[in-house]
Amino acid sequence: MGNQTNELPVRRVVIVGGGTAGWMTAALLAKAFGPRLSIRLVESDEIGIVGVGEATIPQIRHVGRFLGIAEDELLRASRGTIKLAVQFNDWRRIGDSYVHAFSDVGLPLGLAAFQHYWLRSRREDPRAPDLWAYSICARACAANRFAPMENVGGSPLTGIRYAYHFDAARFGRLLRRNAEGNGVVRTEGKVVDVALRGDDGFIESIRLHSGEVIPGDLFVDCSGFRGLLIEGALKTGYESWQHWLPCDSAVVAPSEHGGTIRPYTQASAQQAGWQWRIPLQHLASNGHVYCSRFVSDDEAAATLVRNMEGPALAAPRQLRFHTGIRNKVWNRNCVALGLASGFIEPLESTSIHLMQSAAGRLLTMFPDRGFDPALVDEYNRQTRAEYEQTRDFIILHYKATERDDTPFWRRCATMDVPEGLARRIGLFRRTGHVFREGEELFTLMGWLQVFIGQGIVPERHHPLADALPKAQLDEFLANIRTLVDRAVAAMPTHAEYIDRHFKAA
Ligand code: FAD
Repeated sequence: MGNQTNELPVRRVVIVGGGTAGWMTAALLAKAFGPRLSIRLVESDEIGIVGVGEATIPQIRHVGRFLGIAEDELLRASRGTIKLAVQFNDWRRIGDSYVHAFSDVGLPLGLAAFQHYWLRSRREDPRAPDLWAYSICARACAANRFAPMENVGGSPLTGIRYAYHFDAARFGRLLRRNAEGNGVVRTEGKVVDVALRGDDGFIESIRLHSGEVIPGDLFVDCSGFRGLLIEGALKTGYESWQHWLPCDSAVVAPSEHGGTIRPYTQASAQQAGWQWRIPLQHLASNGHVYCSRFVSDDEAAATLVRNMEGPALAAPRQLRFHTGIRNKVWNRNCVALGLASGFIEPLESTSIHLMQSAAGRLLTMFPDRGFDPALVDEYNRQTRAEYEQTRDFIILHYKATERDDTPFWRRCATMDVPEGLARRIGLFRRTGHVFREGEELFTLMGWLQVFIGQGIVPERHHPLADALPKAQLDEFLANIRTLVDRAVAAMPTHAEYIDRHFKAA
């Protein structure tokens, strides 16, 4: 049994890489295990970090809570703002716009899910209010307002769910201070060699440019796209998803704010990709994600600058990526996290979440007694499932387009999609049903908003939605809208909220 599971105490953890992934893993493990683990983190200032990740999803709030970092402190230190949604412009058709907002939409009115009642109201009157009239986050976005609230006006309507926009490099420094405060030892240096054990190919140690050799029991590869350990040393292999998500490049640059600091991310489709605008306290982050087969780097950079709302604050910076996942994110005694584990474009701001979730999973499945193959397989299975569900949700935005104005969009509209996604689209189109699979990241409300926003309108609604007399249905729906609008009207503006709570000096 000992041999089969390689049963040895695992105490020395070596993390390679000090980007968001490296410091988040270090901080979470150090907080959870304290002195029972000896954690070293190696990073190279010369190589630097990608450091673009600025938009997050609501689960990010657990990180601060777990690490004991107050929200106001986190947002002040990272020049953060509030994020309630992503606004998608020009995705379905040019001129079209919808949001994927984090809060629930409506509330249960009977035995059928809310969307069936709403679908009935639209079928009976095509001018009836749209889906987003029933979402407090969507209404707050439209009014540029924000206040945290658990529910709406004492009703069963759930309130605001929110995430952050922040400066990833500053957030990383905050995580670093927290991790070092809990005993993590940082070493500045470049890893130049990785020594593998002869018998089983496990990583024994890494060697730095300085000549220092660092041995370890568990190695966490957070070295970014290069995957220094997982790929460079262990040759784990990579599964490409580029046939479904063909964008392979990004060009990024900060700019001054054009005006309002919006409580949402904007993702505006372009001729062969899309452009983000993310408001931070001191600037706006802009990035154009594109497919280099359909648009040149120079054209992509020109588009980026043209769409900025204020003057650029730095020259555009180019990045290349390859969408996909490592064949195994945990191989032998090496776990890859962050960009080293795989990449899905930031359309729904999922990368930081995927690393947070993976670090949490590592914590839960920590191999303290050695590397049991069943544990490793389970970790790999869960991570892959999470990546695939995220991938499918992103593909939906491209596939469900009515645009045919460029070769890129024509390709997206006609491409084959993964079987699971095709099944979900078909089911929703025919019946109005959408189900959450297992513990998947995106909620029913998320799927619903993107389906409807992209123009996938169900052919029918649930018969139980017809059981309610029309006058009663109209009254229920009107009441929800009134509650939502009253709650939003009572909120301060997003800018006022920032000033009051976490404006950086
Ligand atoms: P990196 O930031 O690349 O860090 C790698 C680390 O490894 C560095 O410290 C480097 O010094 C070190 N290293 C590498 N080689 C060596 C070596 N030989 N020796 C020593 N150290 C070494 N995520 C979101 O959640 N939201 C977003 O809005 C978002 N936007 C993005 C936009 C783009 C265009 C891209 C590409 C990514 C975006 N992401 C986003 C993802 C996010 O940027 C990354 O997930 C995040 O930066 C974490 O990266 P990382 O820590 O894995 O790698």
